[in-house]
Amino acid sequence: MIKRSDLQKISKLDSPKGQLLSLYLPLFQDSNDTDYNIKLKNLLRSADQRYKHEAGKELPDEFDELFEDIRIYIRDNSTKYGRGVALFATPGKGILASYSMPDTIESSAIVDERANIAPLIRLIEDYAPYCTCIISRNHARMLIGKLDEIEEHSQLEDDEVPGQHDQGGWSQSRYERHIEDHVHRHFKRVAQQLFDMLENNEYHHLILGGPEEVVSGFEETLHQYVTDRVIGHVRILMEANINDVRQNSMDVLEQHITDRKQRLIDAVESESAARDLGVKGLAATMEALQRGQVMNLIVDHEVRSSGIVCQSCGAMSVTPAEGNTCSYCQASDIRDMDNVIPALITSAFEQGASIAVIDQEDQQEQIGKLGGIGATLRFRVEE
Ligand SMILES: [Zn+2]
Repeated sequence: MIKRSDLQKISKLDSPKGQLLSLYLPLFQDSNDTDYNIKLKNLLRSADQRYKHEAGKELPDEFDELFEDIRIYIRDNSTKYGRGVALFATPGKGILASYSMPDTIESSAIVDERANIAPLIRLIEDYAPYCTCIISRNHARMLIGKLDEIEEHSQLEDDEVPGQHDQGGWSQSRYERHIEDHVHRHFKRVAQQLFDMLENNEYHHLILGGPEEVVSGFEETLHQYVTDRVIGHVRILMEANINDVRQNSMDVLEQHITDRKQRLIDAVESESAARDLGVKGLAATMEALQRGQVMNLIVDHEVRSSGIVCQSCGAMSVTPAEGNTCSYCQASDIRDMDNVIPALITSAFEQGASIAVIDQEDQQEQIGKLGGIGATLRFRVEE
């Protein structure tokens, strides 16, 4: 599973000669070698055509060899990657990095100076690791979920909680207080563990499960940092099997992702209408990015647009530059791109903006009215 730190590594991969291949390929367990060969061949051919169109020259011959190496590599290692693979390679050096991907990954192959990390950014932004904590009065079970997988993390049990038979000569009220002390101490221990796990970056979102009254009592003992990470509750029991935990947690996570995107689209809509802390449309978004204003970028996953990217300062524009020089740095090394969106997403990510890729129909419709792309801004530029 890819991490944010991997992304920084990949974005540092480069090929000064513009010969870095970024390949994304879904893997289907029931596919055979022939299927892959065809799929891969088509992808690599599309990379070749795209390169010809954008760079105005043929892919160097060394790529034939590289493509063949990749074909064999995927044939021999497909089971290692689960449902999909992301792979970065360059002639001469071969495969530089590879990661397993979920099956929702769209297939693509691009040859460029820098890695195409837009699909990875999308994954990481949407599916930060989560912790599901199922809590009872004397037991807690923690699981960590990453993308579509989940694993048991740890359990905490207070086996000293006195049972009914231990009441002995104690008065009822004293006995009950004793039990409550135990429960409180148990909650405190679990709360501390969740705090430590958060400090260790083991999860980003927290989901709580268990009987409603237990969960609400437990929530009161959580540190504020931890409370801030709670995205929802699941109604599952301590003994629930791991697949049920996963399914219930994913439902909460998906809902959280949808809600977050909705809030962002609404914000872009109202802020751009008010000409305040928001912009809509490709040209305005590119300008905002150039000024370092973008806080949250929203983009329809189906939006494509040609454009130009300055190879010197990274500035982007929809329309060709006047006199073929960059309007920001005057450099003349301008590259025409069939689709500038991946470069735009990467640039926003590198500026520390959060990225929301929109792929739900009703939300696509709403963002479509904004030109398919927009952003909320950190600050406003007086005009
Ligand atoms: Zn420039």
